Amino acid sequence: MLVLLAGGAGYIGSHTAVELMAAGHDVIIVDNYSNSCPEAVERIAELAGRPVQAYEADVKDKAAMLAIFQQNKVDCVIHFAGLKAVGESVRKPLEYYRNNIDTTLTLLEAMRECGVPSIVFSSSATVYGEENPYPYIETMPHGSCSNPYGWTKSMMEQILEDAAKADPGLSVVLLRYFNPIGAHASGRIGEDPQGVPNNLMPYVAQVAVGRRDHLTIFGNDYPTPDGTCRRDHIHVVDLADGHVKAVEYAASHKGAEVFNLGTGTPYSVLEIVHAFERNSEKSVKFEFGPRREGDLAEFWANADKAAAVLGWKAERTLDDMCRDTWKWQSMNPQGYRSESE
Ligand code: NAD
Ligand code: UDP
Repeated sequence: MLVLLAGGAGYIGSHTAVELMAAGHDVIIVDNYSNSCPEAVERIAELAGRPVQAYEADVKDKAAMLAIFQQNKVDCVIHFAGLKAVGESVRKPLEYYRNNIDTTLTLLEAMRECGVPSIVFSSSATVYGEENPYPYIETMPHGSCSNPYGWTKSMMEQILEDAAKADPGLSVVLLRYFNPIGAHASGRIGEDPQGVPNNLMPYVAQVAVGRRDHLTIFGNDYPTPDGTCRRDHIHVVDLADGHVKAVEYAASHKGAEVFNLGTGTPYSVLEIVHAFERNSEKSVKFEFGPRREGDLAEFWANADKAAAVLGWKAERTLDDMCRDTWKWQSMNPQGYRSESE
């Protein structure tokens, strides 16, 4: 199949591109490089052992998207092209609603005009909101989100489900990611946040490599076994493999389906720090700070549906996640910039 990856130069898109190509599919990447760089595309091609067609374009640009769909007979789109920083979304809600909603509408319109039959969407566990009990299961209602980023995901799911209801020829797969971490085992591609990382794992990795002095752990008085928050961390290559299964599933189904992509096992912030130290043989200096506003104490996935329907299950361990993150970070201390600048 020919799969168009909107936002495919980013963290999850780059790993998915490699796994799709390894499974025998072809990919096209469309990215405006607002949170990534062309070097990532070079490295995807290097890992895949064949060239990758990439377009520098804004997915909100309908004329550009129509031209790309007219030039290429795309079988499926994966929509990764979103802004994703929770805190920034609180400060810049209009930018988040504009980019995330508009990319989705533009893709759906251009797909309809060009007869592209299926779309896989990067959703998030954040749509379960603050009220649902864990483990989260797909049949639970959307909850109320604590920030504009979460609301964009919730709204985009609704838009995609409505589009599938109205168009019997359209297949929609909504993938709710839990907490992706890790990197390709080669160390050639990985997560490369701009500025100070918001998420735990890239922060830990930057402390270990000497780019940051210490980690602040946001709260140690939660009602969890060690007092720090717990999350369902999933290896990004397992997540990428879930996309391969989702693309193949979408080709033979119509309507909208939603799947959790998680491991079903939560780890605490302290467990992550200690596992990272073990796997990197570096010490990670940390101190406890106040809770971060909006954080939930803990949540994790019920991932049974993906196993039963897609035949997908996360295989990689927490040690794999830490070892591969460290390989990427130690080989690329400044991210992609170390080679591209
Ligand atoms: P990322 O920022 O690394 O990748 C997103 C890519 O989209 C970037 O390359 C960026 O340049 C591109 N992009 C953004 N807006 C664009 C536009 N208008 N036109 C063209 N390209 C555009 O993020 P990621 O971690 O790979 O996440 C991918 C998707 O998964 C996002 O939608 C994100 O919200 C979602 N998600 C991520 C996580 C996570 O923890 N990383 C968790 C749940 C959901
Ligand atoms: N966290 C932390 N320090 C950091 C970043 C994150 O203690 O510098 C904690 C955060 O409070 C949460 C967990 O790590 O409990 C995972 O946070 P992340 O932002 O990676 O993912 P989230 O689940 O919030 O999307």
